[in-house]
Amino acid sequence: MSYITFKNICKSYDNKTQVLKGIDLEVEEGELLTLLGPSGCGKSTLLRCLAGLEQVQQGHILLEGRDITVLDARQRQIGMVFQQYSLFPNMTVEQNMAFGLKIQRLSKAEINDRINEALAMVGLQDKADAYPAQLSGGQQQRVALARAIVTRPKVLLLDEPLSAIDAKLRKSLQVEIRRIQKQLNITTIFVTHDQDEAMVMSDRICLLNCGKIEQMDTPIAIYTHP
Ligand code: ADP
Repeated sequence: MSYITFKNICKSYDNKTQVLKGIDLEVEEGELLTLLGPSGCGKSTLLRCLAGLEQVQQGHILLEGRDITVLDARQRQIGMVFQQYSLFPNMTVEQNMAFGLKIQRLSKAEINDRINEALAMVGLQDKADAYPAQLSGGQQQRVALARAIVTRPKVLLLDEPLSAIDAKLRKSLQVEIRRIQKQLNITTIFVTHDQDEAMVMSDRICLLNCGKIEQMDTPIAIYTHP
């Protein structure tokens, strides 16, 4: 059984144009699967359906064999990082990270331990008291990643997390995200429209076009038989 299963997912925003046209997709536990495709092909929509931020019109989504199609977003235990860093500007790094943990009603000590561990993982131990505006774009995105993993989600969703970051830093963050993903063995879906980024990051790549899956394979197979 796969860790995540999308069964015949159909989604439209206005009941006229179908954005997702019957997506069947299985994601294995611990893998990093990339959704690759041109802008507007439905990558973010598929992620948002999995996160529970959008409702599907048809089909089912299973996580660990459990049907979560109509489950509230907060009950899905899914962490998400967006292109825009989306940190709370009026909160320090530590407060940003504690937010989700307080909702989980963890003890103060546990919250501190987890925050320190996650900040160490992204190399920002010394920034706990900084506000987002005092950090570079790359640092803010690392905090967003740390904030997502600190709650120990079942799935990590990364929606073009590096698009707003300059090319040089982007390469090092690709390596860093991949290292953390492997270290935590966290099942991850990564969205990008950048083919090179998909090649270096992924265990498997799912090529989407106009709301349909065109090809699904390892980076090397996609590179040699596009
Ligand atoms: P991608 O992530 O591949 O760029 P999206 O999933 O963001 O694509 O968008 C797919 C299509 O759905 C696009 O045509 C987009 O304009 C449309 N769309 C996305 N979000 C909404 C929304 N909230 N309301 C209406 N249309 C939307």
